[in-house]
Amino acid sequence: MTRSVDPFVPIMPGQVGLYACGLTVYNYAHIGNLRTYIFEDILRRALTFFGYQVNHVMNVTDVGHLISDADEGEDKMLLGARRMGQLAWELAEFYWQAFRQDLRHLNILEPHIWCKATDHIPQQIALVQTLEAKGFTYTLEDGVYFDSSKLDDYGKLARLDVAGLQAGARIEMGQKRQPTDFALWKFSPLGQQRDMEWDSPWGVGFPGWHIECSAMALHYLGEQFDIHCGGVDHIPVHHTNEIAQTESATGQKPWVNYWLHGEFLIIAPDESGKDEIKMSKSKDNFLTLAYLEEQGYDPLAYRYFCLTGHYRSPLTFSWSGLDAAANAFNRFKHHILELRGQAQANAPLAEAHFYAFQQAVADDLNMPRALAALWGLLRDAAVPSSSKYATLLAMDAVLGFDVANFAAHEEAVPAEVVALVEERAAARQSRSWGRADELRQQIIALGYSLEDTPTGPKVKRA
Ligand code: AMP
Ligand code: ZN
Repeated sequence: MTRSVDPFVPIMPGQVGLYACGLTVYNYAHIGNLRTYIFEDILRRALTFFGYQVNHVMNVTDVGHLISDADEGEDKMLLGARRMGQLAWELAEFYWQAFRQDLRHLNILEPHIWCKATDHIPQQIALVQTLEAKGFTYTLEDGVYFDSSKLDDYGKLARLDVAGLQAGARIEMGQKRQPTDFALWKFSPLGQQRDMEWDSPWGVGFPGWHIECSAMALHYLGEQFDIHCGGVDHIPVHHTNEIAQTESATGQKPWVNYWLHGEFLIIAPDESGKDEIKMSKSKDNFLTLAYLEEQGYDPLAYRYFCLTGHYRSPLTFSWSGLDAAANAFNRFKHHILELRGQAQANAPLAEAHFYAFQQAVADDLNMPRALAALWGLLRDAAVPSSSKYATLLAMDAVLGFDVANFAAHEEAVPAEVVALVEERAAARQSRSWGRADELRQQIIALGYSLEDTPTGPKVKRA
């Protein structure tokens, strides 16, 4: 909002209310979406690291996000459902679970509260009623709209040139009074029964995307809270409209004290022939975390890759860039495994390096500088190994590489377990499902977990 780095002062001492816009679950997350969730995870971990108690709320957009952010086109969920020959409800559940799996693989902490838009329709209707009672709405044949001309600070987050928009957009805005007006409630198209629709005081239909986030953030975090996040694409429309309708409804300003937005991951024109990739979930072909895993990359190498850029700068994805990050991450892992043998309880921290790291994190999450502090520590021959290890563990509270468990993942799987895994693969090949299940149970009984992936079974210590 201020376009500057400001000191963070919480509303309630020691506590932070944090709202992050969640995924629109009509397809898998692409690695650009995941960049934003990695940034938000670093933010949450950093706040916790500095002693705050964070209440992290994330929505699941499972209805109402139309093809165009300006309320036009079809609902992305219904389009996705048609593509898959499924109900929108099934689609939402499937892609939400797939998203949660991506979060686990990236070691992103799940929010304290997950909230689905479809579970909070009454709150959204109530918010539209409040806006209606205060005179901020008007009704057209396809829905109830927010009248942005009623606010003199509409567009303050994006610093929109409202008059310019008004002059330029006469044709595309349809029946809307101003181009910046937006739908609060959309009516189901006449004669069509939608898979997701609800009764409302204005007619059967479904909520607008922006009202969902306002209603749920209000419900879980209150009329004023600390931090709201999302990607930069949310600044001009989604967050602008969240602010407009919420502050109009509550009369409280400001609704949110700090807005933080992650810049985009962009794809470099390709140097390696894999140039089919795109960064749009609405296209069929785009980069997912699962695809990186199929190509043999550790998801945490992608996490490392993201931390090599500052969240407020665009980051260009390329396979060579990812390879470089994967190499650095492997070297880091290697150091950890070596140092771990010399770990000692209560070893003192390497204060100077740890301080440099904390300074970098506290300075608007400067993770490239934090990584430089980490490598500075690893290279410093004057620091004893036990202190290095203890300091790296402490840094990992923010970095989230799960350093403490590296060694466990890396430990060679005993020959006995490998033999069982191979026997099970053979049993599956010959379709002896009962035998395969028995072998799986034996593997679990020996303390290992087994996951079947597109590249074959993955075994690790449970
Ligand atoms: P969506 O599923 O479209 O609602 O987006 C989920 C999150 O990903 C939002 O916070 C978006 O702002 C963010 N996002 C979308 N595209 C990108 C991208 N290319 N790079 C980084 N973040 C993105
Ligand atoms: Zn949102």
